[in-house]
Amino acid sequence: MQIIEGAKVAAQVLEECRQDIAQLASRGLKPGLAVILVGSDPASQAYVRSKDKKCKELGLHSVKLELPASTTQEELLAKVREFNADPAIHGILVQSPPPKHIDEAAVVRAIDPAKDVDGFHPVNVAKLALEDTSGFVPCTPLGCQRLLLAAGVETAGAKVVVVGRSMIVGKPMALLLMAKGVGGDATVTVAHSRTRDLPSLTRQADIIIAAIGRPEFIRKEHVREGAVVIDVGINRVDDSSSPKGYKLVGDVAYDEVAPLCKAITPVPGGVGPMTIAMLMANTVKACKLLHGAV
Ligand code: NDP
Repeated sequence: MQIIEGAKVAAQVLEECRQDIAQLASRGLKPGLAVILVGSDPASQAYVRSKDKKCKELGLHSVKLELPASTTQEELLAKVREFNADPAIHGILVQSPPPKHIDEAAVVRAIDPAKDVDGFHPVNVAKLALEDTSGFVPCTPLGCQRLLLAAGVETAGAKVVVVGRSMIVGKPMALLLMAKGVGGDATVTVAHSRTRDLPSLTRQADIIIAAIGRPEFIRKEHVREGAVVIDVGINRVDDSSSPKGYKLVGDVAYDEVAPLCKAITPVPGGVGPMTIAMLMANTVKACKLLHGAV
């Protein structure tokens, strides 16, 4: 059984970014990422801090804009427009979830699609469906595909079951894997909460992508021997033995599933580190596209 180590693959992605950043620097260019956080949700604050830190480590220009929870839709849209017009900023993201009074979809639509490094703007969703590589693909599924490639997992002709149909993970994951070419060409089935008899479906899969948001939901009865399992889930569960009082587990019951697998990602240390690495890669790509360096 192969453990697919996300941290190692993420380090490779970041090394490629470093090379691109050095090339851009030789032309006087520096990719810039603006991250907007509205409110003070602790998990969101932690995500925003780690994005800012990673940008700085790589030598990217990073702007972290923290706005109070009382920020209005119009004030937020005004900030997005400012970043759209700022030539030092190549990527913009608004940390999800914003406070309830914010219309998140409208905010995403206000981002210049050429700076939408999260890949959530309708133009980029359409480009993914159209297999137009000038678009931006959401970071988590892009990271999962990269993990499969790095682990030498053949996707062409493989039966893949993606469990989850969110716009952030499940749906773009399915589109990526069914696209023509390297890392694609799979036969993809997408399952969700209304799917009947999930275990019999997932047991047919060569590759299972679990993006459900339920701790240790995928168990040994869901997995056939020799399958590859990518666990996207990040769930906090109570753990009195941990100083924090909780631990992180995936959507897959790792201990009972791993012995059946040809390869599996752990949680933490699997998909998690890839998401932020792909965000850096998308920001570098945005800068390269803008300046005709692709
Ligand atoms: P969502 O809640 O948006 O989507 C969950 C999906 O799982 C839905 O499509 C839902 O179906 C489906 N689902 C829920 N219950 C069942 C069930 N009993 N059987 C089958 N399908 C079910 O979550 P996300 O896609 O945003 O995230 C999924 C997981 O990935 C979470 O644990 C999240 O924390 C994690 N995540 C990790 C990231 C990383 O960087 N590693 C980044 C993003 C997310 P339906 O549509 O019918 O409701």
